[in-house]
Amino acid sequence: MSILPSRYGDFHVHTLYSDGAATAEDMITAAIRAGLPALCISDHSPFPFECDWVMKKNAVGAYTEEIKALAAKYKDKINVFLGIEADVLSVGLYNPDDYDYIIGAVHCLTKNGVRFDVDEAVDINNRAIDELYGGDPYALTDDYFEAVSKVVDITKCKVIAHFDLVAKFNERCPRFDESSPRYLAAAKEALRTLAATGALLEVNTGAVARGFKKVYYPSPELLTEWHRLGGEIILGSDSHSTENIAFKFDDAAAYAKACGFKAVKTMSLNGFIDVPLM
Ligand SMILES: [Zn+2]
Ligand SMILES: [Zn+2]
Repeated sequence: MSILPSRYGDFHVHTLYSDGAATAEDMITAAIRAGLPALCISDHSPFPFECDWVMKKNAVGAYTEEIKALAAKYKDKINVFLGIEADVLSVGLYNPDDYDYIIGAVHCLTKNGVRFDVDEAVDINNRAIDELYGGDPYALTDDYFEAVSKVVDITKCKVIAHFDLVAKFNERCPRFDESSPRYLAAAKEALRTLAATGALLEVNTGAVARGFKKVYYPSPELLTEWHRLGGEIILGSDSHSTENIAFKFDDAAAYAKACGFKAVKTMSLNGFIDVPLM
């Protein structure tokens, strides 16, 4: 069986260094088998507190060394980039200058001194809405998008991960209306702030791959707004296993085209370049 080479690199994958299920080398060889021109390993940055899904603080050195060594080992077959998914809570726990690529993210919010993950479980979100936000889901989504609006400034990222992660469980267990004026006002305000930074927005297929959603991040209305603002995009699978590398990228490219885009970015050894959407 021959596999058509992909035109898109995958710029968001995880390995055993954080919460992925495969080694970095297994992810790279799977990407080569899938015909990808580029793969960016982007494990979760460490947190200043105990957390089981991020990289351990003392593993950062081994991580950067291993990815660089693997990039050299496979350089004739694929461009491997050393990345990190930098959470806004990780400031000072990684050196932005050490990475080819930083994808910035907000995974947690803190309200009334209580920190919670927005993407861990529907029960956690429901409890946060009911117990911390007085039953007002839009107070939570306002806080989330305000935090996301600062992600480039705080993490020094070039790419913004899963922009509307806060809606991860909302398709199957709706708590808010993603077309409501209040939700959209907060989201679009964040998009305007982020567009001014020149960072790329990720079209992320991870929640679809894992069955949480039928629609990629960001939602069509928000991705269309990003295009209207002159923003540019890149594709990421947020894959935690070899099988989901570049998950549905052709479909995600068609989705982006339907939202108005004529190209997606990919990373080459000379920096970001356009891949036209046909
Ligand atoms: Zn993430
Ligand atoms: Zn991720």
